[in-house]
This record gives sequence, C-alpha cells and structure tokens, in this order.
Amino acid sequence: EGGIERHTYDVVVIGAGGSGLRAAIAAHEAGANVAIVCKSLLGKAHTVMAEGGCAAAMGNLYPDDNWQVHFRDTMRGGKMLNNWRMAQLHAQEAPDRVMELEDWGALFDRTPDGLISQRDFGGHRYARLAHIGDRTGLEMIRTLQQRAVALGIDVYMECTVTDLLKSDGAIAGAFAYWRETGRFIVFEAPSIVLATGGFGKAWKVTSNSWEYTGDGHALALRAGATLINMECVQFHPTGMVWPPSVKGLLVTESVRGDGGILKNSEGRRFMFDHIPEYFRSETADSEEEADRWYDDKKNNRRPPELLPRDEVARAINAEVKAGRGTPHGGVYLDIASRRTPEFIKKRLPSMYHQFKELADVDITAEPMEIGPTCHYAMGGVEVDPDTEVSVVPGLYAVGECSGGMHGSNRLGGNSLSDLIVFGKRAGDAAAAYASGLGSRPTVSDGDVAAAQQGALAPFEVDGGENPYTIQQDLQQTMNDLVGIIREGSELEEAIVRIDQFKERVGRMSVEGHRQYNPGWHLAIDLRNMLLVSEAVAKAALARQESRGGHTRNDFPGPDPEWGTKNLVVRLNADGTGVDLTEQALPEMPDDLKKFFD
Ligand code: FAD
Repeated sequence: EGGIERHTYDVVVIGAGGSGLRAAIAAHEAGANVAIVCKSLLGKAHTVMAEGGCAAAMGNLYPDDNWQVHFRDTMRGGKMLNNWRMAQLHAQEAPDRVMELEDWGALFDRTPDGLISQRDFGGHRYARLAHIGDRTGLEMIRTLQQRAVALGIDVYMECTVTDLLKSDGAIAGAFAYWRETGRFIVFEAPSIVLATGGFGKAWKVTSNSWEYTGDGHALALRAGATLINMECVQFHPTGMVWPPSVKGLLVTESVRGDGGILKNSEGRRFMFDHIPEYFRSETADSEEEADRWYDDKKNNRRPPELLPRDEVARAINAEVKAGRGTPHGGVYLDIASRRTPEFIKKRLPSMYHQFKELADVDITAEPMEIGPTCHYAMGGVEVDPDTEVSVVPGLYAVGECSGGMHGSNRLGGNSLSDLIVFGKRAGDAAAAYASGLGSRPTVSDGDVAAAQQGALAPFEVDGGENPYTIQQDLQQTMNDLVGIIREGSELEEAIVRIDQFKERVGRMSVEGHRQYNPGWHLAIDLRNMLLVSEAVAKAALARQESRGGHTRNDFPGPDPEWGTKNLVVRLNADGTGVDLTEQALPEMPDDLKKFFD
C-alpha cells in the first residue's frame, strides 16, 4: 500500500451542505483547526437544491409573528414528537442566523420597505420563509462556502468517509477514500461532526440525489451512537410524475404558498374534503375564505393546500387511489389560472424552466401533474439539544442526519433554518471539546487495517452479483412496502427482504480496479442504505399508530400512549443489524406547555 495519507485536525466536519459549512465556520471561529470532507464537489450538496426558503420568525411582514408562534407551529406540525428543546432553540435563534447570513453577503428578496421578504408555506401561521426567488439554497451555499474558503478552512472534496475510528470509547478519527484514485486517507481528530444529510436514495421515487445514502446514519450506528424518529420519513406532496426520467423531482411548496391549488381529474379542489380534525379550527372551510387569506391573515384561516406535508401527501394518495388521478397517476397543481405569468416567472423562475425543459409544460398557462415523492428524513442521530453531541464522546450530528428537531413531520423551510442554528451550536461545542482535552486519542493501526479491509471486501469476490441490481431491488421494496401508507404484514415482508439483500451484498462483487469506480462506490454506499432501511422498516413496524410522516393502514389514528415515546435504534450485538428500544420523550416545561392549551 505504501503508507496511507494522514492528516490531523481538532475538528473534522463530514459533509459540506449548509449544516456542515456552518459548523465548520463556527469551529474555526472558536479557534479550532478544521477540515471539511465531502463526497461530491464542494457546492453540490442537497442544500443547494433547496428552493422555497428558510423559516425564521422575523416578523417582517406580520409583526404578530415571534418565536413562540414558530415553536408552536413546529411542534404541532411534528405532532408533538419533536424534542421540545430543539424546537425552542430553533425558533429563538433562526432570525439571528438569517441576519448573519445577510451580513455575510446573502442577497435575500425584499419587502417594499427594504426588509427581508418572507413567504407563506404549509403549517406556518404567518409568512415566515426568507427566500431568494425559488433558489434560496443556492444563495445560502454560495454565502457559506465563500466564507469558509475565505477563512482558509481545508476542504477535501470527492472524498468519502467509510468508517469512524475510536479510542477508549471516544472518537479518534475517520477513514475515507478519494473517489478519483481509490486511495485511502485517515483523519485524526477528537471531534467529528456528521453533516451528511438524509437517505432518500433507498426509495425509487425520490427528490434526493445519488449522495443521499444514509452514510452518516450508518457511520453513527457503527460507532455506537443511537438514532431516533427513524419511522418518520417525509413524502413531499408535490414531485413531478412525468416524464418517467424525472419522476420524483421536486416541485417546490412555494407554488402553493404563492397561490397554487390542487385539483383532481374532475376539476374539484379536493383538499377541502381532507381537512383533519386536528387542524380544522385553523383551516379555511370555503374557497372564498381560503383565497382571502393570502392578503388578510388576521380575519381568515389558512387554505387546506397549506396543511402540513403529511396531510397533503395522504390526500393526494387517496384521490389517485379513488380513481380521480391524472393520466400519469398524479393530480393537478394549478397556478396558471390564479396568478399572472409575470408573477409566476418572478417568484418561481426555476419551476417555470424545470417544467418547460423537462416536460414541455408552460406553468403560466397549464396545470402541472404532480404526486408524492420521498423527500426528507426526520429520523437521525440522537443528540443533546444544546450541543448536538451524540452518546459517543466527540461525535456530533447536525442537519438532516440528526433526529429530534422535526418530530414525526418537518414543516417546509424548517430545514434550512435547522442547518444554520444547530450547525453553529455543534461547531462551537466540537471546538470546545477538542480544546478541553488533556490528551489526544490515538487511532490504532488495527482499526485502520480493518477499515481498509472492509472497504476492499467487494473486490475479493469473483463472479458475484453487481451492486446495481441489489440497489434497484431495495428501492422497489422500500417504495412498495415502506412507502407513504404502511401495513404491518408489508413491513414484515420488507424486513425479510432486507435480510435477503444483506446476504446478496455479502456475495456481491465489483469489476475493475480502484481508480474512479462507481460500482465500488455504490457497493460501499449500499451497506449503509441497507442498515438504514432496516432501521426505518423495524421502527415503522414497532410504532403501532399513525402520526405525522408515519401512516399505518392497520392503526389509522394517533395513539396517546405512543405520543409520549420515541423508538431508539442501535446496532445489534453482533453488528449485523439493528435493535429497538422505547424511550420516554423529555418532559416539556409548563411555561412552554401553555401554548398548546
Ligand atoms: P446536504 O446539504 O445534503 O449535505 C450533505 C453533505 O454530506 C454533502 O456535501 C455530501 O457530499 C456529504 N456526504 C454525505 N455522505 C458522505 C460521506 N460518506 N463522506 C463524505 N461526505 C459525505 N428545506 C428547506 O428548509 N427549505 C426548502 O426550500 C427546501 N427545498 C428543498 C428542495 C429539494 C429539491 C430538496 C431535495 C430538499 C429541500 N429542502 C428544503 C431540504 C433541505 O434542502 C435539506 O434537508 C438540507 O439542505 C440538508 O442539509 P445538510 O447540511 O443536512 O445536508
């Protein structure tokens, strides 16, 4: 092998999305020597794809808005399964984090008075999303990236972490390979921040890109950390359904926030037929009231199109199932008949181009055909709400790969704000932990050798199955059996199949050598996807109720008993799969409970 490349840092951040960049900046500013490692090119993270905006109760358009209202919306949207302390910190600190982005050069859209403009999104009582057209993530990444690079933070890109390394129960470093050369690299660091995003690529129809294979979730499990909320997967109501090559691609919620409505094949505005009891008192019951709400929020209630995502996705699913779907199996999303072409092109430029180029549909003149798509992982690493440290000393998690903040369902816009609020907190805490250590943990040669052997294992098998067919079968299984509406017997079947996929993965082989070899990369990612899929399927089977993003056909309502507890996932004793335990949710203090009376 001729010696493995090695580097030593105080803090290594895995992932260069909004959460990773914000954590790296904070750790650097706290005096730590910091590296960012990311498996694609810098700037290619999911954050860059975020369209609608970043939720923060700045009160620029509605002075009545404040952190308490945002906190309440977030908890109700998550059906009270959220970690209350995370939801509180998030609501309190998001406005400062947004203002700080502006100080660093982000160019947000403006109100007529020159304040940062805010847009409507589902589940938010007031217009609250700071945005830049429908390209908010792009501007956010540009700003954070520019700052990280200007500060001189080291970036290792197209470099994939495959294992975390420990010493005496605490983090000691990380093991990775360069995608281009296939050569290995070891990072020695007492603090590691996981910022690897979600795991939507385990499903067939998804808005997520190739990077979302649950690496951080799996790395954390293997290092002894715990995951929570894994049964709660968000299916976004509006993904493209046609043409087949782009099925699942996101259609931003801003289309509805800016006035778009949903219709079935009979032309009926069907969301009025699907208003759940839980949200009835705050939802308009006539089209007239719903339409008035856009201009007068004080005297009118929210349109049902802007119910939380889980409610809208289930309603669309029900309409299609009842035979009232479109020719390509979706429903219609219409903004053309509601807003002028000028308005649509100014507010939704990316959507206009996306439909024009990919589907030959002019959204200023015709409705779009849309349907649910696997979008966001509420589940992730269990962390301390104030510092984002996991149960493993030195291991932190932020952004989509962490759990707790969003409970059973995330409100739109609450991810971008989550990234910057908790990114900063994790970076601060990771730097403080590293500087407070008396002596540094050391990476053992045996652990490095084992990580290397694990990564190379698929080359040791001749004539085995290739990883692509296993991935396809997994994606189909998760789509069919662990999808938007779940059933005990189907989840049991999914768990049996995942076991079979694991056996197939043990016998798979990859062709060629280590220089840029996508088959090998997928073989490594696939192990992570399987572990995470097992966690989702087992947690979904265990939670015998419907709540937020987790819907059971055989247990259709929420169960108050289940509403008081989380399912905690850990690696099993022999390291081949996962086990579950139940854990009581932390008790909310009385001064916050009063918002829910
Ligand atoms: P990401 O931005 O995805 O970054 C993950 C990083 O981890 C990447 O750099 C990746 O290369 C790296 N990585 C992963 N695995 C490894 C590994 N093994 N080794 C090294 N590096 C690794 N949210 C909102 O709040 N508002 C919106 O308007 C919005 N719109 C969205 C639109 C789309 C199309 C999508 C897909 C999501 C949207 N979301 C939105 C959700 C939001 O964008 C994401 O949840 C958020 O950006 C995740 O950020 P992150 O920092 O956790 O991860």
